[in-house]
Amino acid sequence: MRKYERVYATVDLDALHFNMESMKGNIADGTRMMAVIKTNAYGHGAVKLAEELENLDYLYGFATATFEEAMELRSNGITKPILVLGYTFPETYAGMIENEIRPAVFRLDQAEEFSKKAVELGKKVYFHLAVDTAMSRIGVRPDDSSLETVEKIAALPNVEMEGVFTHFSKADMIGRENTLGQIKKFSNYIEKLKERKIEFKIHHCSNSAGIIDYREANMDMVRAGITLYGLWPSNEVRRDIIDLKPLLALKSHIVYIKYIEPGEAVSYGGTYTAEERRRVATIPVGYGDGYPRSLSNKGYVLIRGKKAPILGRVCMDQFMVDITDIEGAAEGDEVTLIGRDGDEEISMEILGDLSGRFNYELSCDLGRRIPRIYIKDGKAVDVRDEFRDVVKIQ
Ligand SMILES: *Cc1c(COP(=O)(O)O)cnc(C)c1O
Repeated sequence: MRKYERVYATVDLDALHFNMESMKGNIADGTRMMAVIKTNAYGHGAVKLAEELENLDYLYGFATATFEEAMELRSNGITKPILVLGYTFPETYAGMIENEIRPAVFRLDQAEEFSKKAVELGKKVYFHLAVDTAMSRIGVRPDDSSLETVEKIAALPNVEMEGVFTHFSKADMIGRENTLGQIKKFSNYIEKLKERKIEFKIHHCSNSAGIIDYREANMDMVRAGITLYGLWPSNEVRRDIIDLKPLLALKSHIVYIKYIEPGEAVSYGGTYTAEERRRVATIPVGYGDGYPRSLSNKGYVLIRGKKAPILGRVCMDQFMVDITDIEGAAEGDEVTLIGRDGDEEISMEILGDLSGRFNYELSCDLGRRIPRIYIKDGKAVDVRDEFRDVVKIQ
């Protein structure tokens, strides 16, 4: 396999299974799981992860944010149900129905259009009704005013009301009142629909934070996102309930080393100026790869198990670090941007804190220039490289 010395991410598939089992161990016996693999599985590579999870019997299926993401899974042979969590647009309805991709439904005109298409195609469409209990994002409002709309939706031809779901806005925060209130609102609304003979097979509301902290919200299914990847929803969720292992590490290599003299500056804008002689290494990665520019003069990487602070601004494709105190550091040395080196570890959460950004955002932003190398039993078993077809080195 290519060495990918400029940059690569390793994605540990054993950790993926560890996290799944860990979550499974914390939910009720009859509760199934849905793997949320939107945004290319939060940057980890949706197709490979779906292939890896497809055969788990307690997995109902997958969730994506868009039709296109769902189709990427289908065209790679993924057969389990896929739910598109956001609004779906009319031009995609035929494709949604033909590929049995489930839409989140919350507008009557949307449901009618879906039903019409399903009748034309002689197929059924499986709806998951979105209920807005706090986000004010998508979903029917859970009050009497929407009951009639849902009744109309349920009565449409070629429609099956397979699921009903809501989404927590504060389950990752300290204080249980809001989330318990949402669960109650959701349950009451489902009761009211039941009185009108509208019933669903799958009720679901938990995200990762809910899986960890709200067993009362398990219902028929839970939607695991960030925890699949071994990352925490926030600094406020309890860490003593389940164990998680991060999947991803990001590595590069030193490409150039030089000394700079007092008064010499580093990178755009000269925001760092040396006060004494410094040994400086260049790393060939930048914000064009999704490595945050806000780490300028704030972040650090690991070289030979030691911290090397970032000097000056992170450029689009390169940045510089101070290796004055790292004995023996040499061109070609491995550089850890995310992950472990010896006793030190840069987690996505640490990187989030240093950059003033959100751990979810950081992993989603890891760019297409970074090949993902999949690891099992400590060995590379597969690689997803967007440039594979145009580059001869393999
Ligand atoms: C993204 C998303 C999830 C997963 O959220 P995590 O916090 O990553 O677990 C679950 N449900 C919905 C509706 C989402 O949009």
